[in-house]
Amino acid sequence: MTDLQRMLDDAHNIVFLTGAGVSTPSGIPDYRSKSGLYSQNSNPEYLLSKACLKREPSVFYNFVTKQMYYPSAKPNAIHKKIAAASHVYHVKVITQNVDGLHLSAGTDDVLEFHGNLYHVYCQKCAKRVSYRSYLDNMIHQKCGGILRPDIVLYGESISSKLLQRAIDILEKADLIVICGTSLRVYPFAGLIQYRSSKAKIVAINRERIVLPNNGEMILEDAEQVFVNLKFSE
Ligand SMILES: [Zn+2]
Repeated sequence: MTDLQRMLDDAHNIVFLTGAGVSTPSGIPDYRSKSGLYSQNSNPEYLLSKACLKREPSVFYNFVTKQMYYPSAKPNAIHKKIAAASHVYHVKVITQNVDGLHLSAGTDDVLEFHGNLYHVYCQKCAKRVSYRSYLDNMIHQKCGGILRPDIVLYGESISSKLLQRAIDILEKADLIVICGTSLRVYPFAGLIQYRSSKAKIVAINRERIVLPNNGEMILEDAEQVFVNLKFSE
């Protein structure tokens, strides 16, 4: 039995905090890593900003639709095992990822902290449209408005309602599992400050990350660690 398995078995309220590293095995590049999206584009923080969407909507559209969408990506072992765990234990997921893969894998209780690329709406009439029509055209054919994905852009803040939901989840958790993120992006990274004093923290990452004092590191490949978990439903 692995350390992570034992911790999951002993916990009552588990929260997984996940980031880009959970989706890289599904072929979605980590846009903050060295080889990822950010290094190939001169000013990605601008291209993914509220300002760019407003001033140069077609520049924003080209960047987002060509670099961020992977509609054929499938959930990998990490997404699947978290989903399996959620059918056996009391599990919540808070993710930075905007790819919707935790939901595709069958985890119901997912808080998509930065939104979901596949939820698209019109900025003019507020109607929702399919992401496929967005990939075809950035203009809403019914009203002429400019479409956008429902994700949090640079220059935009997380809604206070969503932030409060995340804090509530953290306060109740007795086990916090950090995976695929080095916890450097705020306010997501700040969520663990709201944990209960009794909560255990474990991070699965090939490189050491900064954790609070009682945090444990599993310095292994996350996909390998998750593949070995077993849940009897
Ligand atoms: Zn519209």
